[in-house]
Amino acid sequence: MESTERDRAIVVQKYGGSSLADPAALAKVADAIVRRVEDGSRLVVVVSAMGGATDELLELAQRVSPAPKRRELDMLLSTGERVTMALLSMAIADRGVEAISFTGSQCGIITDDRHTDARIIDVRPVRVEDELRRGRVVIVAGFQGMSYRREITTLGRGGSDTTALALAAALGAQACEIYSDVPGVFSADPRAVREAHLLDRIGYGALETLARHGAKVLHADAVAWARRARIVFTSGAAGSAAAGTQVGAFERRGVVAVTASAQRAFIPGAASLTGLGAAVVHASDQGLLVSTENRGCGSEAIPCATLTAVGDQLAADAEVLSLFVATLPSPQAWWTSDFGVHARLDRGVDLTKLQQAVHRALLGAEATS
Ligand code: ASP
Ligand code: MG
Repeated sequence: MESTERDRAIVVQKYGGSSLADPAALAKVADAIVRRVEDGSRLVVVVSAMGGATDELLELAQRVSPAPKRRELDMLLSTGERVTMALLSMAIADRGVEAISFTGSQCGIITDDRHTDARIIDVRPVRVEDELRRGRVVIVAGFQGMSYRREITTLGRGGSDTTALALAAALGAQACEIYSDVPGVFSADPRAVREAHLLDRIGYGALETLARHGAKVLHADAVAWARRARIVFTSGAAGSAAAGTQVGAFERRGVVAVTASAQRAFIPGAASLTGLGAAVVHASDQGLLVSTENRGCGSEAIPCATLTAVGDQLAADAEVLSLFVATLPSPQAWWTSDFGVHARLDRGVDLTKLQQAVHRALLGAEATS
């Protein structure tokens, strides 16, 4: 019995909140999981909170306390995913397949102690492996772990993707499938840029840069885990397994996508990363650019926005660089990185319009192909 269990491929799936928003949606996911088990896979399923639940918990906290302790926010926010994991496990059991749910800490997801924006530093999924060996489907609450001080932490908004890829890496999974309400990774946020096109594949470096600089399609740390473990994974809409974007060690010259973020701040002159951790998105001799998505930052920080064109080896492409800078209204600064060219802008600029303009200038011809 044990050796046959061992022969079956481990597949890690992640379902986003909109695929789990109500009992009917949950039932559909449970059906898909049962079908997959019958096809012969050992499944670990990472879930997000039910659609909108995390925002509701945050609003609730705001109504009780204007500035709650981040430790208590983590205690609160981590419950969203616990609701879905338990419900999904029940739904699967009703379909005659054995399932068990675990929190992040039960799965051995160890993080640093930056509450509300923690990083996974180690994964020891002993209990997950035991249950897989027993032939059970393991349902995991995404977005959370336990710090080395045994405190409950959360991984920053969108962090369930990172739970899935960190677990896939630790389990040596054969496949990882990230399902959400969008068909995959686009050349820009399709809600902002109508001509944006779906990418059939994208490299780790380009996607990590895209996510780090504002794209919400995947959590940046998730891509970093995949890159380090060399896991090829897919991002697509739940229910259409084959379509979507493949993420792997793919290289492709030139611009592949455009993104922007208004949730940034610049700390002039600062060089020290102390206490800022994962929030730092760029360090230069002028100062630090930080993300304000998951935590506020000190009063010395000046709110700003950024716009980024992503692609391999853009620093060497004079034509792309001059088009990028010419399309932007006098950026405060611009720079290149391994997988992109970036500009720092005033928060007041129209980021939607600018993304459209940069997409048209750098990807326009491709958008119609
Ligand atoms: N529920 C969390 C959020 O809304 C984490 C996730 O969905 O990945 O950000
Ligand atoms: Mg997400």
